[in-house]
Amino acid sequence: MDKTKLKDFAAQVKADLIGIANIERFYGIPRQHHPSSILPEAKTVIVVGKRILRGGWRGVEEGTNWISYTYFDYHGLLNTLFITEPLYHLACFIEDHGYEAIPYYPGVPEARYGNKPLRNGQVAPDINLAIRIAGICAGLGEIGWSKVFLTEKFGPRQRLHAIITDLEFEPDQLVKPGSICTKCMRCVEGCPSKAIPHLKENKKIRIKIDNNIYEWADIHFGKCTLSYHGGDSRVSPFIHRDFPGWNIDASKQDFSEETAYKFCWTLSTGKWRKTNEFSSGYIIEGHAMIQKWGEGGSFGICGSRGCMRSCFDWLEKQEKIGQIFKSGRFIKRKRWLLPYRVKSK
Ligand code: SF4
Ligand code: SF4
Repeated sequence: MDKTKLKDFAAQVKADLIGIANIERFYGIPRQHHPSSILPEAKTVIVVGKRILRGGWRGVEEGTNWISYTYFDYHGLLNTLFITEPLYHLACFIEDHGYEAIPYYPGVPEARYGNKPLRNGQVAPDINLAIRIAGICAGLGEIGWSKVFLTEKFGPRQRLHAIITDLEFEPDQLVKPGSICTKCMRCVEGCPSKAIPHLKENKKIRIKIDNNIYEWADIHFGKCTLSYHGGDSRVSPFIHRDFPGWNIDASKQDFSEETAYKFCWTLSTGKWRKTNEFSSGYIIEGHAMIQKWGEGGSFGICGSRGCMRSCFDWLEKQEKIGQIFKSGRFIKRKRWLLPYRVKSK
């Protein structure tokens, strides 16, 4: 099977993006994250992308609707159905040609706690293939300063999954570092919890793939998780409704990612007794409902205000994104941001 045939099939089954990496491009990646640790005979990693709708964020951007983003475009249907369908069809297509194809699910790497290796000389389960690095290796794009994956077609608006296979292909060309991200720092300005350091702080991660150096900001994941998963009153009208007296500035907290998850998920999905003051039976009813209706388990409150929305608004304006919209810029009105301090009743 040649590459054209594979890519034509990918288009037929509605994959929006497909890129091909040879296994050599993963040279230097730790074994715990290496595709060959899953399939020792691996020759190719195929990375498949499906767009996040620009309109998926409209409700959060306007401050009027959260559930659509979580349900369709965050961990809901996009990650659990829309992208997995073309991925699975492609894997079947490869196996129909006599090669093994492992569909790889990239979700929740932080929950893949280590066990012991099951055989001598092997790494412990579960292997976490870093999907954005795989995306670079497959020539789909680069990691922007915000650590979000950027492509020429959609900017930051896609999710990626992968197939590891023993079928050999000529790899696609790499996207050169700096060809999409302009280092404009719009992501830094737009991030409510200051999770993305400014370029001037010189806190960055660097990797080398072939002869290219890719670098991006060393994100504070504790702060990001606080905003994203419901511990930041600046981006949550639901905290303002259910937590009078809240006085927590998420940008000043120094939680680890895991402790931020513990904090946010307990508050956002936990139950509490029904009282006259709070009759819902949840700690923060709005977050609980978004998580419950959201399909696929997770939920988004910040809605990537800086790292995605500010970013694609800017990249579209710079004409750095292939998909264009007739309605002009995405950010059309003065943006909202609530005070972190919630008035006492
Ligand atoms: S907003 Fe986007 S383009 Fe600008 S620095 Fe951040 S990641 Fe790069
Ligand atoms: S998801 Fe929100 S808090 Fe996290 S980096 Fe993006 S803008 Fe900042």
